[in-house]
Amino acid sequence: MIKLRQIKRDFPLGSQVVKVLKGIDLDVRRNEYVALMGPSGSGKSTLMNLLGCLDTPSSGEYWLNGKDVSKMTDNELAEVRNSEIGFVFQTFNLLPRSTALENVALPLVYAGASTTDRQARAEEVLNSVGLSDRMDHRPNQLSGGQRQRVAVARALVNHPSIILADEPTGNLDSKTSVEIMKLFSDIHARGNTVILVTHEEDIAQHAHRIIRLRDGMIESDEKNEHGS
Ligand code: ADP
Ligand code: MG
Repeated sequence: MIKLRQIKRDFPLGSQVVKVLKGIDLDVRRNEYVALMGPSGSGKSTLMNLLGCLDTPSSGEYWLNGKDVSKMTDNELAEVRNSEIGFVFQTFNLLPRSTALENVALPLVYAGASTTDRQARAEEVLNSVGLSDRMDHRPNQLSGGQRQRVAVARALVNHPSIILADEPTGNLDSKTSVEIMKLFSDIHARGNTVILVTHEEDIAQHAHRIIRLRDGMIESDEKNEHGS
């Protein structure tokens, strides 16, 4: 499903070039549950942004569901982002003036769905993350955990093949983090492919495979028998 070959990402910095990803090879099969770990600055977010087609590599190949994403135009990438990828951010990235329902329905606006269809699908997915009684609340009327549930619902609404989450529990207390991780385990159990970044060893233990990044390279890639 995901195949990376010698992915490199450099960033210009003044007159110099910072090499952030230094040749990543990675294969992820359908319905895997992967945790990506590594020290701060090791390139986790850079890699997630590439996987989520929010950024393109400096060199190397990225095959997603049989298509070479690294060769795509901006329009083609936007189409892949809308149809195949759900992205969850540490800071939730919700529209503050919009209700939970409107936030979740937004990707469907881009997908061209009708108003009634958008409403029905947003309600369905908000139900599935346990927020049936919070649909008309705005983000500042919700707890951190509820906001992240809205963001997860938004990521799910287009039925993407992959869910990517960059430190989704980074702004949550430990009890709420456990609830959000249970949600990711449910999403994985429903047949989704999940890749998430975390700093915390006990959060990573939910995943079935743990990849550690160091200094822009994969340091280790191991199966985790204890995943949930
Ligand atoms: P992590 O998520 O593992 O903490 P990042 O992928 O955010 O690490 O960043 C890895 C390194 O790349 C950092 O040293 C960071 O400063 C650098 N970096 C990330 N994005 C940019 C950018 N747009 N321009 C320059 N340097 C960047
Ligand atoms: Mg990061």
